[in-house]
Amino acid sequence: MSSELPDRVDPFRLCDGAQSFEGRLKLAEMPRLSEALVSNDGAVSYRIDCDRDERRRARLRGSVDAELAVVCQRCMGPMRLPVHVEFQLAVVTGQDEATLSLASVIEDELILALPVAPLHPIEECSEDPADWSLTDIEPDTVLQRENPFAVLAGIKSPKKDD
Ligand SMILES: [Zn+2]
Repeated sequence: MSSELPDRVDPFRLCDGAQSFEGRLKLAEMPRLSEALVSNDGAVSYRIDCDRDERRRARLRGSVDAELAVVCQRCMGPMRLPVHVEFQLAVVTGQDEATLSLASVIEDELILALPVAPLHPIEECSEDPADWSLTDIEPDTVLQRENPFAVLAGIKSPKKDD
């Protein structure tokens, strides 16, 4: 177990060696993610396990936990958004560059986890819910990170009258 994230690594070597990494990374070191945040104070916790699966393919498995400062899209006020991401990635062969930045993997996973429209829980939001037009959309549905498009599943195209 290593707490130091190597900058650029050969992912196949890490997987052959079944290496694991666990530690914390500052949000200020994630410029792409920081662009979407109100503040990049704080850090994220990560764990990454590198190994080979039963078919000998190199894979990275891990989890990332963070509390991100974002803007509530209902009242436009700041809010703390707890994010927990679990991921599993296959390492693809044939890349020109056979090195990988594990810090970028962590940053990518957090960017993917950001909801399209983060919303305060209704009781904490300063906007009066009577004022919004989409009162039938549950804020929890929008915030569910496993499938940010789950809310779309409920929207059916109108039936044609024929
Ligand atoms: Zn709000």
